[in-house]
Amino acid sequence: MADKTKNIKKDEQETPEEEVLFTSLRASDWKEFYGQKKLKESLRIAISAAKKRNESIEHILLYGPPGLGKTTLSHLIAKEMGVNIRITSGPAIERAGDLASILTNLEKGDILFIDEIHRLNKVVEETLYPAMEDYALDIILGKGPSARTLRMDLPQFTIIGATTRIGLLSAPLRDRFGVIHRLSFYEPKDLEEIIEKAALKLKVPVDKESILEIAKRARGTPRIALKLLKRARDYVQVKGEGKLTKGLIKEALDMLEVDEVGLDSSDVRYLKSIIEKHGGGPVGVETIASTISEDIGTIEEVIEPYLLQIGFLKKTTRGRVATPAAYKHLGMALPKENKQEKLL
Ligand code: ADP
Repeated sequence: MADKTKNIKKDEQETPEEEVLFTSLRASDWKEFYGQKKLKESLRIAISAAKKRNESIEHILLYGPPGLGKTTLSHLIAKEMGVNIRITSGPAIERAGDLASILTNLEKGDILFIDEIHRLNKVVEETLYPAMEDYALDIILGKGPSARTLRMDLPQFTIIGATTRIGLLSAPLRDRFGVIHRLSFYEPKDLEEIIEKAALKLKVPVDKESILEIAKRARGTPRIALKLLKRARDYVQVKGEGKLTKGLIKEALDMLEVDEVGLDSSDVRYLKSIIEKHGGGPVGVETIASTISEDIGTIEEVIEPYLLQIGFLKKTTRGRVATPAAYKHLGMALPKENKQEKLL
């Protein structure tokens, strides 16, 4: 998939080996897709209703931070509907012609998964509207005053759009999705199940405590949990012990610079820049981005959602503010005149 890693933090980018690993660990069955109970239920109702009516399922938009299971869910939906799934991404569809060739090759009921759908260009997006609404493509023939539009019918199909940034989607595109779901961060117990299952598949002997330790540090994200498991496995293999125990896990994860609540060096740099350089905030995201030389997209998609979730960060109308919990976690003293508390 083109450009998939664009907005993922440097140390979260996948090596080709990890890509293969994640594909092999992908849930092939709803039973293996843990957590997100409400979302699963509502998708399964939509699927069985569509099946009963013998229609394709409505267009679905899935949004949320990377690594929470959007691609996996789309594969599961296709499997349950008994249809093919074609995978592409917003930046990979450069011209309306690229989209036309993808759509005309779909069969009735097929699913087209568009990752990073917020990155579709305007022309392609506008070509998509009639395709989503009326299963038709408007092709412009010729140029200038003699140009004509030819309408071409398409088979019924379903678009599953995935995005980490719903706010960047235009309203007309968003409105064309019948079903919109947000994926939230996972509870530790769901992550524990995901890690346990993956360890079994990978044949890594791992004790309960180590599983807990990985789950704690995985930022509520299955992809990070699997990555930490894999890196910890590599670490113990090199250390020659074979079995993952809590002590070794701690060593391995400390070496990877992921702390007990899942913060890594980018998160810490981000919080420290608010606290040390901007008096704890409020400060605008552009200013933080230039202070730590980080891309705004990465900050908004990857760093901030988790810090907001664990209560280390607040967004106010005047900018970002570090909370007392963040000061405490970093072992830093709150300023005497605590303007943060007034803002929170
Ligand atoms: P996204 O598309 O949201 O970036 P993916 O679907 O690629 O996320 O998931 C990343 C990895 O995490 C995959 O290997 C997938 O199998 C695993 N994963 C994600 N969600 C779950 C889940 N709910 N249960 C089990 N594994 C999951």
